[in-house]
Amino acid sequence: MALNVLLVDDSATMRSMISRVLQMTGLPLGEIHQAANGREGLDMLGKHWIDIVLLDINMPVMSGLEMLDEMRRNPNHADMPVIVVSTEGSEKRIDELREQGVKFIRKPFTPESLRDVVNSIVGVHNEESNENEWRD
Ligand SMILES: [Mg+2]
Repeated sequence: MALNVLLVDDSATMRSMISRVLQMTGLPLGEIHQAANGREGLDMLGKHWIDIVLLDINMPVMSGLEMLDEMRRNPNHADMPVIVVSTEGSEKRIDELREQGVKFIRKPFTPESLRDVVNSIVGVHNEESNENEWRD
């Protein structure tokens, strides 16, 4: 099973960093699509088959929370797994996201923590050998 991922973040540097970290996780990746804000992210959801969305909160044009609201209102995207990747520090905000079934990773993060969160959603179990690949 190859995972098609959508990275939504206004920082191109952060998108390429997350993309690199994803490759280090040993997860079976398919296509990695990118968008610079929530509006572009919604456009990408309409154009491509996406299995999981990694979503920044603070972005111009349309924030991650606004994009999430739009997704939840659209039956095609309402149940899509979303991981919010943000520097957002408010526990209240994070709890609100968790109540919506959204996973949360605080920037900066390690490949291991990203892999564990993705695995907890998609239920992919890696061989022990994969675990060591990015550590060596
Ligand atoms: Mg941002």
